[in-house]
Amino acid sequence: MHVGFLVLCSSGTSGGERKLMPTIEEELGRRSLLYSLLMPVMSQCVPGLDKGKGMYFLFIKSEAKTPGGLVARPVLTSYYKSNHFKNRPYDPYTNYTSPNETILCLDSYQSMYSQMLCGLCQNKEVLRVGAVFASGFIRAIRFLEKHSTHLCKDIRTGTLNPQITDPSVREAVMKILKPDPKLADFIETECSRESWQGIITRLWPNTKYVDVIVTGTMSQYIPTLDYYSNGLPLVCTMYASSECYFGVNLNPLCRPSEVSYTLIPNMAYFEFLPIQRNNGGINSISMPKSLNEKEQQELVDLVDVKVGQEYELVVTTYAGLYRYRVGDVLHVAGFKNNAPKFNFVCRKNVVLSIDSDKTDEVELQNAVKNAVTHLMPFDAHLTEYTSYADTTTIPGHYVLYWELNVNGSTPIPPSVFEDCCLAIEESLNTVYRQNRVCESIGPLEIKIVEAGTFDKLMDYAISLGASINQYKTPRCVKFAPIVELLNSRVVSSNFSPKCPKWTPGHKQWNNMN
Ligand code: AMP
Repeated sequence: MHVGFLVLCSSGTSGGERKLMPTIEEELGRRSLLYSLLMPVMSQCVPGLDKGKGMYFLFIKSEAKTPGGLVARPVLTSYYKSNHFKNRPYDPYTNYTSPNETILCLDSYQSMYSQMLCGLCQNKEVLRVGAVFASGFIRAIRFLEKHSTHLCKDIRTGTLNPQITDPSVREAVMKILKPDPKLADFIETECSRESWQGIITRLWPNTKYVDVIVTGTMSQYIPTLDYYSNGLPLVCTMYASSECYFGVNLNPLCRPSEVSYTLIPNMAYFEFLPIQRNNGGINSISMPKSLNEKEQQELVDLVDVKVGQEYELVVTTYAGLYRYRVGDVLHVAGFKNNAPKFNFVCRKNVVLSIDSDKTDEVELQNAVKNAVTHLMPFDAHLTEYTSYADTTTIPGHYVLYWELNVNGSTPIPPSVFEDCCLAIEESLNTVYRQNRVCESIGPLEIKIVEAGTFDKLMDYAISLGASINQYKTPRCVKFAPIVELLNSRVVSSNFSPKCPKWTPGHKQWNNMN
């Protein structure tokens, strides 16, 4: 059946639900065009990439039907399921260790297990490794840590773990898996070493670079990737979204902090809203849905952006979005010929992000408000809070630092704080909850800090030059000395005891069934 109009669900949310983006069939061709530019750029910098394979951990996510019968799925799921990906003609530059069947398996354990197994079996052929985002790649390494015994057993005997039940996955893997006791011994020895430093270069010795996005919030994963890869180049090849694909990095071996993307002008009509910084922060706490008249007049075209200036990206797409604010802030780094190159600065308003989740300050505030009701029976009040995206754990998790004022005499049992953790998780958006359920994000943690901690935080900020009048407790902290200060005053640590509820599809659609 020819579907002329599809819906993509983005990881951005509106009212707690995934945003739905219109798209059209021909858009897949445009997106494939952008993908086809990546390897020519890459092979200018790294020769010989056609002599081996890429080990990429790629996954699909579940899809839903709108009440009108349209399929709504995440953009990458839509791409991997399309003929552009599935039936791509043989090309030595898009030769992956993962058979399509392992990528197209909805069960995340079976998909990850089989992709890892195929990657290990072909370890000498692997020239590049990666995933879409850094968080996904690190999750794959953690998966290997947990499941290496099973994986080695399969490689030793040439038989596949019975937990892999999907027949098409089994068939595809069995074409690659051959008994190889020597390889199994080698992997076992490497995985049982105490230190996993350089594990990527040890197990896949011909790897030339790690292909993952580490710009934006994903930069928090750079130290972990450097550790596992022994400092291999981290390559960010492209910048894209559900709304539209944007551009490519024409200097892929540059340092992550210097990555810039050149927008491909025929992906959409690009316009730019100049941004005025206010005290180092970006104006406006809640993102306006559409541009007002004054803002429409301020828009500049791609050819008119100025080096050094920051802009909010606005797109008009072939699928029908008109002057749509993507929500990303870009900085003009320079030009490649006449085409401007942009550094990704940040996403407006996002305070916390571990994987594809994007939590803004308002959402966090509401979630905390819902949670503190559990403290009422103890006559305890939350006086201050802040948050931190802790990526030292794998998967990473949200940490909230709470300072309390307790008037009641009954001590608050840990189970109450655990209830608070879960209440926050239940209040966060659908993308967060889905990531929790599929274990891309770990259980949320509330750390109770000593009374007076947030005063110390303010003293510290003032010592660094903040103005007392304008000081506001940051709702999210990133700066290491501040995180250390908070951690040095923790009196108790509490984790969410279980996953929050999540079901695929929109709430309204589920109600209709
Ligand atoms: P989604 O619509 O869920 O695919 O999310 C798209 C968003 O992910 C973009 O608007 C950016 O905020 C972020 N993103 C995508 N590619 C990059 C990149 N290369 N660097 C930084 N952030 C990115």
